[in-house]
Amino acid sequence: MARQHTKEDRLDMLLELGGGLCAWCGFDLARPQSRPTRDLLVPKVKGGPPRLENEVASCGACNQLRGSTSPSQFIEKSRGERMLEPNATLVADQLESLDAAIANEGGMRKIRDYVTREAKRCRQLAAG
Ligand SMILES: [Zn+2]
Repeated sequence: MARQHTKEDRLDMLLELGGGLCAWCGFDLARPQSRPTRDLLVPKVKGGPPRLENEVASCGACNQLRGSTSPSQFIEKSRGERMLEPNATLVADQLESLDAAIANEGGMRKIRDYVTREAKRCRQLAAG
C-alpha cells in the first residue's frame, strides 16, 4: 500500500524531485513570487488522483495555463509556442510510476489507458 502524505509533504517531495524548478518552464520555485503548486499530470476532471505519482511541482502560471491539457500536449505546446524546455524526463518518470502503481494496486480503471499512453508519449518526447 502506498504511503499517504499530506499536501504540504507532497509539495516538498515534488520540489525535491524536480530540483526546485517548475516542471514546465524551469522557473526557480524557491523565489518568493513563484507560487509553487502541485500540478496533476492526469487532470482532476479526467479522474486523476491527488497522489505523489500523479503530480509535479509547477509554477502557478504554468499550472493555470495548462488546465486539463494532457502532459504530452503541454510539453509540445511549451516547446513550440512558448519556446521552453519542460522537464519531460521527470514527467515521464512520474507517469511511469503511476502506471506501475496502477498495475500493483489495481483500481483507477478510468485513467489506466490515459496513463499508459501519456507515459509512452512523454518518454518519447524526453528522448528527443
Ligand atoms: Zn512554470
